[in-house]
Amino acid sequence: MKIPTEPIGSIPRPIELILGMQAYAQGQMDEKGLQELYDSALRDTIRKFELTGSPVITDGEQTKPSFATYPIAGMKNLLPQGVVIPFADGHTRQLPVISEGPFRYMAHASAYLKKAKQYTRLPVKQAVISVSALSLLYPQQGLPGYTQEHFIEDLIGEAEADIRQCIEEGAYNVQIDFTEARLSLKLDPSGGILNSFIALNNQVLDRFTQSQRKNIGVHSCPGGDHDSTHSADIAYADLLPSLFELHAGNFYLEFAAEKDKQSVLKSIKENLRPGQRVFLGVTNVLDRRIESAAQINELIQEALAYIPLEQFGTTDDCGFSPFADDVSTSREIAFAKIRSRIEGTKMAEAALEQKKVFV
Ligand SMILES: [Zn+2]
Repeated sequence: MKIPTEPIGSIPRPIELILGMQAYAQGQMDEKGLQELYDSALRDTIRKFELTGSPVITDGEQTKPSFATYPIAGMKNLLPQGVVIPFADGHTRQLPVISEGPFRYMAHASAYLKKAKQYTRLPVKQAVISVSALSLLYPQQGLPGYTQEHFIEDLIGEAEADIRQCIEEGAYNVQIDFTEARLSLKLDPSGGILNSFIALNNQVLDRFTQSQRKNIGVHSCPGGDHDSTHSADIAYADLLPSLFELHAGNFYLEFAAEKDKQSVLKSIKENLRPGQRVFLGVTNVLDRRIESAAQINELIQEALAYIPLEQFGTTDDCGFSPFADDVSTSREIAFAKIRSRIEGTKMAEAALEQKKVFV
């Protein structure tokens, strides 16, 4: 039996592209020069992805400024005063807030998909940002003439369009990046914020049919930026009962970096619902050491003692570079880890076949 395996999304950008983006931001490179760098990074990433043997690929998010901010990149009505996300190593990332309405995406994710599909015949998966992450763009003190309710209504419409356009453009599937799920429990241990996030995302998911939702997934992790995390100390047991309330078909969960794997697996077993598939991270994106296929196979066998095979798949713990300027992991390491995931997953399939023969 086949075990589905998929990447999360991002691949570190080539250094020429990162330097080019900086030069462009400082007015030292024109639009044409930057577009050429984007294009060659995209082609190179797709070619290397194909060489890993991955049955499903992404565009490596080579032209996304970050997993969360692509809809607002270049937006004029933004102020740099939003929510601050503290990471374990002491560095922070700060979200902006909008200064006026109405709220409209500057870019939709289907544009990335369309471009990627020009360069490959393999199925392409597309990640989009969650509506809950972008809900944080509304300033706490409110805005004159643009209520929070109005903002949320506009936002949900945009998030729905973001997913729908990907489906229409032929995405293999769509993944909603919901990294703030685990973070929200850190900010509010009562779970109030988490439950409001879940409800908000379900409002978007409910605009799709049951069969469309089978191909819509959600990624949750403790955040990964400069090899550090924002909420690894929050236990899965606190998150999963709420997370599996999402009306999505697939769940992509960070797992390889978890210290107490048994308790994570127990919690998944207790909370996973019929019709849901969980893709477990089998490569640790924050560790430079490359997992061997045998180690990954072992991890899969351990997981299959808890998770039914027909509800199981493998993935990487997170994207390898969710923010464009993060150079903590090299492209070579990212692709080597992906190759190991593919090989380890194949090894697990072969082991399952053997078991069947001898039973
Ligand atoms: Zn992640």
